[in-house]
Amino acid sequence: YFCLDENIKNNNVVITGSDARHLKTILRAHVGDVISIVTTSNEFTAEIKQMCSDDIICELKNEVMRNNETNINITLCQGIPKQTKMETIIQQNVEIGVKTFIPLVTERTVVKLNEKDRELKKLERWQKIAKESAKQSKRNIVPYVDKVTTIKELINRLKLEDAEVIVPYELEDVKLLKDVLIEPKKNYYIVIGPEGGFDNKEIKMFQEIGAHIVTLGKRILRTETAGLVTSSVILYACDE
Ligand code: SAM
Repeated sequence: YFCLDENIKNNNVVITGSDARHLKTILRAHVGDVISIVTTSNEFTAEIKQMCSDDIICELKNEVMRNNETNINITLCQGIPKQTKMETIIQQNVEIGVKTFIPLVTERTVVKLNEKDRELKKLERWQKIAKESAKQSKRNIVPYVDKVTTIKELINRLKLEDAEVIVPYELEDVKLLKDVLIEPKKNYYIVIGPEGGFDNKEIKMFQEIGAHIVTLGKRILRTETAGLVTSSVILYACDE
């Protein structure tokens, strides 16, 4: 079962909702059974301690040594696209191995997420997609979907990070594989514009903090394709 850190307290995990119902009614789990729990950082065995009416409480036992994770840490900062494209982006990039997502509001973001309610609902949905995709692709961690962030907030955060920042931009000639990934590093942030792309001022802000502005080729990729291509190339070049 996949759970977020907020469901773990003092070595105890609370399994809720459909996961708890699945364990009870389909798998007919009992107190004393040992199950597998995957958190945002690792996988554990856990013993069922209590079956409550809605929830199941388990105690974490041992860390599982099997590791399907890449040691390359990729954070995908994605300009929020229209409709449900963000869901596809999260699902596919989790399969590839991306560890964190930052939904990004840029100058040309069309979708407005002003109402706090809607924002939280979307985040909940995106986190659920990440969890399901992690389960399907046998990840050892649940990739984290961070809060909706503006370009300025992202730039301030990146100034403090020890990471390579990769910004694909269609008006650039620098090649990701040949010019940037010559010496593999551990931490990468990928920043992808929404459907309308980046404003030139935004690109300047990234240049000022030493980001690598790169081309992904002469053809224009959809915003949902660009992140996946970039994360694939980084893992191809850097993962052992
Ligand atoms: N509005 C832009 C245009 O029509 O020229 C296209 C934006 S594209 C759909 C969305 C994002 O994907 C861009 O902001 C960029 O980050 C990335 N992207 C797409 N194709 C790219 C390419 N060939 N090289 C670099 N980045 C690309």
